[in-house]
Amino acid sequence: MLLDGKVAVISGGASPRGIGLATAKLFAEHGARIAILDIDAAGAQRAATELGPQHRGFGCDVADLASCQSAATQVLDAFGKADVLLANAGITQPLKFMEISPENWDRVMDVNLRGVFYLSQAFVPHMRERRQGSIACMSSVSAQRGGGIFGGPHYSAAKAGVLGLAKAMARELGPDNIRVNCVTPGLIQTDITGGKLTDELRAEITKGIPLSRLGDAKDVAGAYLFLASDLSSYITGAVIDVNGGMLIH
Ligand code: NDP
Repeated sequence: MLLDGKVAVISGGASPRGIGLATAKLFAEHGARIAILDIDAAGAQRAATELGPQHRGFGCDVADLASCQSAATQVLDAFGKADVLLANAGITQPLKFMEISPENWDRVMDVNLRGVFYLSQAFVPHMRERRQGSIACMSSVSAQRGGGIFGGPHYSAAKAGVLGLAKAMARELGPDNIRVNCVTPGLIQTDITGGKLTDELRAEITKGIPLSRLGDAKDVAGAYLFLASDLSSYITGAVIDVNGGMLIH
């Protein structure tokens, strides 16, 4: 039981095959109580109910500061504390450079990068007060290798922004005993690709992966568990690759 007695907040946790929900299940097995946040409020509540009565789901659009602040208030009212924050929610769009409209740019930046910023701002005052916290931010191999897998250049830019933001947060929040780290998954089989990942593309991508398979949501959940738990108590500002060797650097 690596998270006994801890409260973990997971954004983007409602998607049935998603990384957030797989992580919520693993965290619950390790004794945590979970607050699932998602833009789909009913989905978040449903997911939490399926996990068990001690867990809760709340609607939250991470791209909206007021929504993040309201979610933080509801979480703290319900649980009394938040030990772990996974800024996991994200969207992608498989667009080429010249196809990206201002609206595409804004939405991908807003959910993936601004969302990490706003959600962290909503929980950091509480963590500071308790002088305790672990924040794990969702980036992507796309940030490190310049995309070329599924998301467009705006997705790579947003996820690269997450790396810089998280490292700067780690530096500033370290003295408050708040750790901030990132995970950078390769291609993980979830519904984020919206059915647009063809068998041909899947086979092509698999050829470039030393472990010879795409990732599962559980693979990322394991890395999140490590970062959330005291096993990583002296780790901050780190980036954990979960990519089967797709990028070794
Ligand atoms: P999913 O689409 O399964 O899960 C993402 C969840 O975030 C969905 O429930 C989605 O809701 C929700 N969401 C979308 N927008 C918002 C918002 N504004 N506020 C709150 N919640 C929101 O995708 P994954 O589990 O694959 O993705 C999780 C994270 O992992 C994302 O940040 C993604 O970019 C990242 N990632 C994924 C990889 C992969 O290959 N799958 C690889 C690298 C990184 P809805 O479904 O209604 O949009």
